[in-house]
Amino acid sequence: MLVKLQTMSAVYLHIPFCVKRCDYCDFITYAGQGEFLDEYHQALIKEIQFYGGKSSRANSIYFGGGTPSLLSPGQVDALLRAIDHSIGIEAKAEITLEANPGTVDYQELKAFKRSGINRLSLGVQSFIDRDLRSLGRIHNTDQAISAIIQSRDAGFDNLSLDLIFGLANQSLADWESNLEGAAEMGVEHLSLYSLIVEPGTPLAKRVENGEVVLPDDDLAADMYELTMDKLPQLGLFQYEISSWAKSEALESRHNKVYWKNQDYIGIGAGAHGKYGDRRVRNVSTIPAYIKLSRSQASQEEGLSWAVEEVLPISEKEAMQETMMLGLRMTREGVSAAEFLQTYGQAMESVFDQEITKLIKLGLVEWIGTGLSRRLILTRRGIMLGNLVFQEFV
Ligand code: SF4
Repeated sequence: MLVKLQTMSAVYLHIPFCVKRCDYCDFITYAGQGEFLDEYHQALIKEIQFYGGKSSRANSIYFGGGTPSLLSPGQVDALLRAIDHSIGIEAKAEITLEANPGTVDYQELKAFKRSGINRLSLGVQSFIDRDLRSLGRIHNTDQAISAIIQSRDAGFDNLSLDLIFGLANQSLADWESNLEGAAEMGVEHLSLYSLIVEPGTPLAKRVENGEVVLPDDDLAADMYELTMDKLPQLGLFQYEISSWAKSEALESRHNKVYWKNQDYIGIGAGAHGKYGDRRVRNVSTIPAYIKLSRSQASQEEGLSWAVEEVLPISEKEAMQETMMLGLRMTREGVSAAEFLQTYGQAMESVFDQEITKLIKLGLVEWIGTGLSRRLILTRRGIMLGNLVFQEFV
């Protein structure tokens, strides 16, 4: 029996279609499978219907990928109607669509806005053509700028950009100009990632054979430090290791569900979900997902027909995850009161040794007093986040 998912108010939809695989990408996404898009869309609607009556109304909805902007506005509209009908959508829900600057135009953006999308996340990655070519992106700088301008014209007042640092031949000055460019465009939110060379990707091969030389760790760390210093001067404030927003109200509501280790529904091929004491993962391939949607075979414990893997989470693991994910939120950190309320035990007694050690190393600190206390990363802790997180594994 599936327990009613009372706390779930976030819905993630995975759209694993791309025009072309970028050279660094290891996400679950496929190029050249556009012929399945309509059937996949129908399958998504069926999975949304499965969750009818099993969750509270959605407060955030996130179309991620892949390239969700390959869906037509009509398809997005139909998905949102299905969610509203089956699960319900709160009046002021945050509804985000990830868009590739190489796949959108003004008319389409306007239609996405009309369908209910109120936040766009544009995968700009860089405002320098050389960087975009080296990443194997399908768009160029002019298209990125035009997508931002057209999004504004289409009425989007909540724009987030993804940018990547630590690229081949990228200087500190190049990175600074990207940050300034984003701020000049007046965007409300930035997600900034360091380039990770994932094994098996075309980028990994080019790095292995010496064709591509990436900046050393010191330069990448300098870029990150520059970001922390520069963006507040430009009116964007860090609230998570990789995230900056113009104000608290413009922080990503959806991502905060993950960082607060709360429950969420994952819909689509390769999507993950979290329901109380278990995490689930759907089948990864598009054909397998479509095939399962046709039979909609019932699963043990009332899981969606698309679920391939169920991972139970012990209480100890849940507490560890709460620390690792929560500490990512550089402004809020982990609340002592919320930890106590969730687990019936005080954070400082469960993780006494770890917290004491990290405080001594100057990596975390307490802010506030009594039950309003929160454990947050220090600036040094933000720079050395992995050292902190591994204490809670
Ligand atoms: S657009 Fe995004 S999801 Fe698609 S291949 Fe490129 S990095 Fe991967």
